[in-house]
Amino acid sequence: MLTTDASDLRDLIELVGPKAVRTDKEATPFMTDWRGRHRGNALAAILPATTDEASRVVTFCRDRGITIYPQGGNTGLCAGGVPPEEERRCIVLSAGRMRRIRELDAVGDVAVVEAGVTLSALHDAVLSEERLFPLRLGSEGTAQIGGLISTNAGGTGAVRYGVMRDLVLGLEVVMPDGNVLRRLSGLRKDNRGYDWKHLFIGGEGSLGFVTAAALKLFPAVRDEAHAACVVESPEAAVALFGRLRKRFDTAIHAFELVSGGEVALALKHVPGLRAPFDPLPEWILMIELGNSDPDGRLSERLTGFLERSLSDGMILDAVIPATVQQAADLWAVRHSLSEANKKEGHGVVFDIAVRVSRVPEFIAGATALIEQLMPIAEPLYVCHLGDGNVHVIAMIPHGALPDRVSLDNSVARLQEAIHDLSESIGGSFSAEHGIGRKLAPELARRLPPTEWNTMRQIKRALDPMDLFAPGVLMQASPDDE
Ligand SMILES: Cc1cc2nc3c(=O)[nH]c(=O)nc-3n(C[C@H](O)[C@H](O)[C@H](O)COP(=O)(O)OP(=O)(O)OC[C@H]3O[C@@H](n4cnc5c(N)ncnc54)[C@H](O)[C@@H]3O)c2cc1C
Repeated sequence: MLTTDASDLRDLIELVGPKAVRTDKEATPFMTDWRGRHRGNALAAILPATTDEASRVVTFCRDRGITIYPQGGNTGLCAGGVPPEEERRCIVLSAGRMRRIRELDAVGDVAVVEAGVTLSALHDAVLSEERLFPLRLGSEGTAQIGGLISTNAGGTGAVRYGVMRDLVLGLEVVMPDGNVLRRLSGLRKDNRGYDWKHLFIGGEGSLGFVTAAALKLFPAVRDEAHAACVVESPEAAVALFGRLRKRFDTAIHAFELVSGGEVALALKHVPGLRAPFDPLPEWILMIELGNSDPDGRLSERLTGFLERSLSDGMILDAVIPATVQQAADLWAVRHSLSEANKKEGHGVVFDIAVRVSRVPEFIAGATALIEQLMPIAEPLYVCHLGDGNVHVIAMIPHGALPDRVSLDNSVARLQEAIHDLSESIGGSFSAEHGIGRKLAPELARRLPPTEWNTMRQIKRALDPMDLFAPGVLMQASPDDE
């Protein structure tokens, strides 16, 4: 059927009602990524209120050959949820109006929630039942369950509870043909064939639109302890992690290493934060312990542990928050780092995973590469050290930005070198942020052919028209014609 943009839009409004269709200025926030580096174009952003509406929209788009970019809270850092810059016939399909918590089973430890529920809203809802959903990250007030699933998000709690993949029991997905694939039984044991949910977890919207999920819950934390420590080096931090693990094992809820330069940026740009140390040291460790046993005396035990570590020189200084507010202030610093980076300048950001034991070697190598290949940038580090995830930021302040071509060339050279470094020590160039449009060429280039071809076969089998998120995660290759 030959249609025009205007008739497509008119028919979409008829299909789902005007409340679900955003165009022009109202659509702008859906077209721009969180960092403001990618601005796309689409016919409209469509916000279905139910799975049935979402299915009707997808079927409509399939019939008209309109491509679909699924979107959640739009906090993704790899430009996966926004449409491309060049004008094309596409829509943004947002889960923003699908915000129902369908079921909260505190005995079975399962929550069935719609894709548009924000992570904070889920935290609050399950806490009222004395349960915990353990994913924690800086964007939790805005990031949505559908987006967190589609990027397989990690965050600070991964050291204890794993990443999003470890927290999903089942999914409901609108497939590219408009059918709804659903398994929300919330069972812990279920061997009815292939575990297809894993294709959509980390699938970045390339295989369908996630509309709901059954998620694992845990006992609420009833005893906790927090600390910030000064360590001499990443090596010292890894050594302390080994010792802490022997003592506290699964009570370690977060083990984060950040460079002092990063904390300085947070204090400079984000109002209301308190410096954990003055002057700021080169490396700061942030530790959170948690337990469901209220009599675990975690704070007392952590204090004793840190006193011993201080006396034998493993750490150089430590602060232990005395109140809940002081602990919140400490973690506010940690969760403000991305926002501070955005304000400071152009951060060339890497999201690397290596084994915990190899983090120091990786950091030393990355620092040397930044000094050599991008001397105008300051190397900064934010590491989820407990799971081996290192965010390297080569920070170029706004005032020092070179022209576009020189910047693009030096970013490309640095990316090549840092990804080579991580590969040479058995690491991954995408740990928790995903691939998006940003790293799609890297995935195509760096994956072994058998892995790449298997992924392309899956994409072709489930989305033969390349309707969902073309150019995101999987680039089209010449043999697809
Ligand atoms: C301040 C800040 C801190 C952050 N900290 C962390 C961190 O510690 N750890 C971490 O892992 N990430 C972090 N992130 C990145 C980001 O928050 C996560 O990637 C998050 O999972 C994105 O969720 P979202 O709802 O915003 O998804 P979006 O940005 O809207 O989309 C991300 C991807 O998922 C797809 N998608 C979204 N919703 C759906 C759906 N319903 N169905 C199918 N596909 C969908 C999109 O197409 C896109 O490819 C941070 C981001 C910011 C801004």
